[in-house]
Amino acid sequence: MADTAIFDVDGTLVDTNYQHALAWYRSFLRFDIVLPIWRIHRSIGMGGDQLVPSLTSDDVENRHGDALREAWTEEFEPMIDEVHPFDGAHDLLVEVKRRGFQVVLASSGKSEHVEHFLDLVDARGLADAWTSSDDVEASKPAPDLVQTALERVPGSSGVMIGDSPWDAIAAARAEVPTIAVRTRRLLTRGTAGRRRRARVRQPPRPDRRPRRHSPRAPGLTAAAASPADLRHTHAGGGHA
Ligand SMILES: [Mg+2]
Repeated sequence: MADTAIFDVDGTLVDTNYQHALAWYRSFLRFDIVLPIWRIHRSIGMGGDQLVPSLTSDDVENRHGDALREAWTEEFEPMIDEVHPFDGAHDLLVEVKRRGFQVVLASSGKSEHVEHFLDLVDARGLADAWTSSDDVEASKPAPDLVQTALERVPGSSGVMIGDSPWDAIAAARAEVPTIAVRTRRLLTRGTAGRRRRARVRQPPRPDRRPRRHSPRAPGLTAAAASPADLRHTHAGGGHA
């Protein structure tokens, strides 16, 4: 039984994913790199150290990585006052605390941004600890942030709450289960969506010969699908 709730911040408690995507888009443009925003959007949730090489190449990372991250800061910060918390974010933290969990915020963002968002959510009196990308060598989807978050409280086991596949992957690598929030539906389309399609597939009709390449069909029925199933991913199963 988990005793510590590890919350992602951006896209989970505060509505920042589109501002992040636009800031990265503009940062890459400064270096004449044009990327589809949908691709950038899907990578939001990684830290900048992971996002740049993931979206481009090791060569771009080596030549421009630090400059791109500086550019991102310059592009994002003018938009930070537009950011609002999601409805119910504060109340969710209050309820999780009331149920006896320790609350740790584990963000891939910069520490000053995490502090700003803590105030937006009015979470300083609720969070037992928080971490940012400044606290670790490698941000999500590396497990470091999740592990560091757990080390900051005396609890023995955690559960991750996040909006992106990178939260689930980081948590899985730290052997922590994930509860996915669907604020941008990435986990619905990218992860849980595939599970849903698999689960609702009907068993083959007896009068039809089975398709040669449908290894997931046997045993996967509509009865296995429920909203609760789709909101939960577990360690090892959260990959995009
Ligand atoms: Mg997030």
